[in-house]
Amino acid sequence: MPNKIDLHMHTAHSDGAYPPIELVKRSKEAGLSTISITDHDSVNGINEAIIYGKEIGVEVIPGVEISTDLEDKEIHLLAYFIDIENEELRKYLIFFRDERFHRAKRIVQKLRKLGLHITLDDVLAQAQNSSIGRPHVAYALVDLGIISNYYEAFDKFIGDNGPAYERKIHVSPQSALKLINDAGGLSIIAHPGYMKESILINLIKAGVDGIEVIHPSHNENQIKFYKGIVNQYCLLATGGSDFHGGKKGDDNNLGKYFISPNHLEAMRNMLQKNNA
Ligand code: AMP
Ligand code: FE
Ligand code: FE
Ligand code: ZN
Repeated sequence: MPNKIDLHMHTAHSDGAYPPIELVKRSKEAGLSTISITDHDSVNGINEAIIYGKEIGVEVIPGVEISTDLEDKEIHLLAYFIDIENEELRKYLIFFRDERFHRAKRIVQKLRKLGLHITLDDVLAQAQNSSIGRPHVAYALVDLGIISNYYEAFDKFIGDNGPAYERKIHVSPQSALKLINDAGGLSIIAHPGYMKESILINLIKAGVDGIEVIHPSHNENQIKFYKGIVNQYCLLATGGSDFHGGKKGDDNNLGKYFISPNHLEAMRNMLQKNNA
């Protein structure tokens, strides 16, 4: 049985259902040997996960998923092996989380104008101290009985073309790449399946280190296509489950989306080269 490595997971520090320790425990039960915690715009769950992982024999690689945008489209960049104490990274994450809070307020205002009885407190109760995102709004709408499931929130209200959609503040992929590089990490284009090829190529030219090839949203043809791109441009291939758990209904995905040790070794090699 080869080692299974899942490099894309969310905890309750962003929009995941489980605290870091619970996620590491579930990862072990799902047969994963190595994971990365990649919360949206937060690294707060990482230390705890690393320490607990050492206790039970799961390697935890520090990660974060950073939201950027290009040509009016949202682009998520995954960063791995970043120094989570890096001052600039810390400052940026605090700034961005604050922006997320203000955006949540604007989303709630829009929903109220549409006649829905939801308050900012309902959303904050879901988010607790985490990096607030649209999923917390969706969870609140479900708990209030306004909709019947998580996905309906996106389909009817807060999806990218929905009537209560609100953009995040503009951050260019280039500035996020600089942040990741300066924090000593590797930069990966997250789940590119929805992306126009021209944007993908622009990001490669901007200097990303790799592409997330394995992801639940990718079909077999897409996986083949991204493997080809990775080979053509000498990039890293990564992958994972993008696990959130709980109301998102993806609990069965743990252990199903993974990469193998040779991919992780290639990442470590590139890291050494970059930081030499
Ligand atoms: P945010 O960063 O606040 O814009 O929220 C983005 C997150 O919402 C993504 O990482 C997904 O977890 C979730 N999400 C976005 N669009 C959808 C969708 N159409 N259906 C389900 N979940 C979604
Ligand atoms: Fe998410
Ligand atoms: Fe993402
Ligand atoms: Zn994610």
